[in-house]
Amino acid sequence: MQTSFARFTIPLWAPLLLTLIVTGLAWRADTLARRRAMLGKCPTRGYARTGLAPGAVCPKCGSAAAVAASGAKA
Ligand SMILES: [Zn+2]
Repeated sequence: MQTSFARFTIPLWAPLLLTLIVTGLAWRADTLARRRAMLGKCPTRGYARTGLAPGAVCPKCGSAAAVAASGAKA
C-alpha cells in the first residue's frame, strides 16, 4: 500500500506580509491614541474631554482616561 502526499507550498513573503500589515495597523492605532491623549481628547474616538475631571471616563464611549505620557505617578 502506497500513501500519496499532496504538495502544498506557502511562499515566504506571505507570512511576512501578513505580519507587516497587522503590525502597521497596530502601530497606527497606537499613534492615533497617543496623539489624541496629548491633545486632551478621548483616545478611543477622539471626542473632546474639555471640562471633565482628569480621571473621569469618557461620557461618549465609556473608555478610561488616558494615562499621562510623562509617566509621573502619585
Ligand atoms: Zn470616548
